[in-house]
Amino acid sequence: SRQRAYQLRAQAALTRDGHRVEVAANIGQVAEAQAAVEAGAEGVGLFRTEFLFFQRASAPDEDEQYEAYREAARVLEGRPLIIRTLDVGGDKPLPYLDAGQEANPFLGVRGVRFCLANRELFSSQLRAIARAAVDAPIRVMFPMVATREEWLEARALWEEAARPFPAARHVEVGLMLEVPSAVLLVQHLAAEASFFSLGTNDLTQYLFAAERGNERLAHLSDALHPALLQMVARVTEAAHARGRWVGLCGELAAETLAVPLLVGLGVDELSMSVPAIAPVKQALRACHAGEARALARQALACGSAAEVRRLLAGEAFEGI
Ligand code: PEP
Ligand code: MG
Repeated sequence: SRQRAYQLRAQAALTRDGHRVEVAANIGQVAEAQAAVEAGAEGVGLFRTEFLFFQRASAPDEDEQYEAYREAARVLEGRPLIIRTLDVGGDKPLPYLDAGQEANPFLGVRGVRFCLANRELFSSQLRAIARAAVDAPIRVMFPMVATREEWLEARALWEEAARPFPAARHVEVGLMLEVPSAVLLVQHLAAEASFFSLGTNDLTQYLFAAERGNERLAHLSDALHPALLQMVARVTEAAHARGRWVGLCGELAAETLAVPLLVGLGVDELSMSVPAIAPVKQALRACHAGEARALARQALACGSAAEVRRLLAGEAFEGI
């Protein structure tokens, strides 16, 4: 029946050997939270808050943001909600908050750099999040962090914004790993951050110096490249050694072919657009974590993305 189908969709996805990987949704609008729950999301792993700032003449104020975050949390009914702070600049300019002309916007004032340069705007967002987090399982995540200094500065601003709300002290604060320097600093960051989420869209772009979305460079933009997989392995190892969990919220999380590999690499949470949730849960249930670890070792030893894809396709074929 429909009720049974919904129950299965909503259930946590365990591998055949009982290993749990959380499946969460990427959303850009409050209205998407309902669809995420219906599709079986166990939470929101990435709320792209910049979409609250687009297609309008000025930034939403603290109260308006507070209402949006609170409403998303209400719809999620106790499921975790990771709010990513404003990620503008690069390919997402805000007309009313011009960062100035830049020759290379993707290498410019974007993500947390923009927020650290626009303190008032950043602090009003952080206050709105802190207020909404008083009675909801909200987590905060900073985008585009490149250095430990940026991370510490952003976290200090969060603490300042949250100080008037003692009930927001439970809030876990983490960051996206989408700049190679941050990946190489993961041991230091893991001492202080509660969690990480791998932003493989930008991480691939910056690792291969190939602009995302540039079709002529598509051959250089495969997140299944062993060079990127080595970064994932490095992150899970360092994070787990410190008891931190690792999510992945780039497009790679939606690729069912990659699921066994990501399980084998130790990723704890996958966050993706709503339509991918059911197929990824199905792929997780078909997967064996022990076998996946062996598969990951083989993939890490490959010399190209094509080789990794052949390896994964072979596995998928044998699984049939
Ligand atoms: C990423 O870079 O992988 C990511 C999830 O963030 P966005 O696509 O919003 O840049
Ligand atoms: Mg990104």
